[in-house]
Amino acid sequence: MVLPVKRWFAIAFLVSAIAITQTTALAADDWQIIKVSGHDYLSVDNISKFYGLAAEVVSVGGKTQLETVRSPLEFVRGSREVMINGARSWLCFPIIENDGRFLVSRTDLAKTIEPLLRPQRVPNAGKVETVVLDPGHGGHDKGALSRYGSEKDFALDVARTLRPLLQAKGLRVIMTREGDYFVPLEVRAQIANAARNSIFVSIHFNATNDDPNATGFEIFSFTPLGAPSTSDGAVAPSSLSTQPGSAVDAQSMALSACIYHSMLGHIPEFDRGIKRARFAVLRLTKVPAVLVEGGFLTERGESQLIAKKDWRVKLAQAIGAGVESYVALGVKKQPPMLVADYRRENKSPPVEFVAPEADSSLLDLLGDSVALSPLPTPAETPLPVPQQQPPQLPASLESAVIVP
Ligand SMILES: [Zn+2]
Repeated sequence: MVLPVKRWFAIAFLVSAIAITQTTALAADDWQIIKVSGHDYLSVDNISKFYGLAAEVVSVGGKTQLETVRSPLEFVRGSREVMINGARSWLCFPIIENDGRFLVSRTDLAKTIEPLLRPQRVPNAGKVETVVLDPGHGGHDKGALSRYGSEKDFALDVARTLRPLLQAKGLRVIMTREGDYFVPLEVRAQIANAARNSIFVSIHFNATNDDPNATGFEIFSFTPLGAPSTSDGAVAPSSLSTQPGSAVDAQSMALSACIYHSMLGHIPEFDRGIKRARFAVLRLTKVPAVLVEGGFLTERGESQLIAKKDWRVKLAQAIGAGVESYVALGVKKQPPMLVADYRRENKSPPVEFVAPEADSSLLDLLGDSVALSPLPTPAETPLPVPQQQPPQLPASLESAVIVP
């Protein structure tokens, strides 16, 4: 087996990294790895200091105050739930309390917190030539049903509406299906994998038998190596999954953040969060990939909204603005707009996702890659970022897989 060697190397590297930071007293990246039952954790305090951000741990009851985010990082005690920059997200592992300190798994620092908090720092984020839009289901597979229609039709309509919006931004768009027919899941992934510098956006609507009142948006990207999915019950690090992860975990998370903040910021829906799953289309795609759930067909009010064409246009515009925000990460290495920024912007005269007339001579001159109009800079809508940008996470943390 090759793995143990790599693991020992990782441990050795980590130990030396800690030794160096201690002797040179680099305050910002003074990571204190805490071992609990053989697994690596970092304290909420440590994370807060590194990012220069207020972080707090609230009790479970605190999560009912959905609209009041007090800190950029708000962990829920004993839970996997965390508010990051005003949007709900789900850690791979619950935070634990140990010796009076709250601890977050090293996997989550590297795979969840860092890419969601600083998507602009994710290597190759925003490198997009082609957007592969994947309207879920089709043909015999109707998906979820409401009294107004089926998921396959609503998803296709959103994708069709979204396509010209993205094309107007200079992006190439491929649809995994153009009409009402079924495309095997592996074929959908192959389409994305065959396109150069592509991202994959799968569009679905939700359904549940458990709770007729369930509502809201959620977005999924592939579960990292060694971690459980958000819907998995067993979430202790001792029940490590051995299923492989993805080489583009961080880019997918950055894409999730950009699209999800835009969706929530444009449409006042319940925030179910940024989640992980091993859905086939996410597992089989080798490119940054997300699966959007645009509301519940099993809830009366939401199914009525989804059935309205103008609401679906709004959803398509919001996803489009999110994709644009992701693409902008590759152009300007600045933080993307957050849910609060979009909401603020929408209170003033509503800002439409209007495609400017493309000046073809300019496009020819500059090429596709710069044909994207810049987003309003986050400088206009101040973010709670520290004065000094904290440094990159040490490589030893970034490559985090829990070292047993
Ligand atoms: Zn579906």
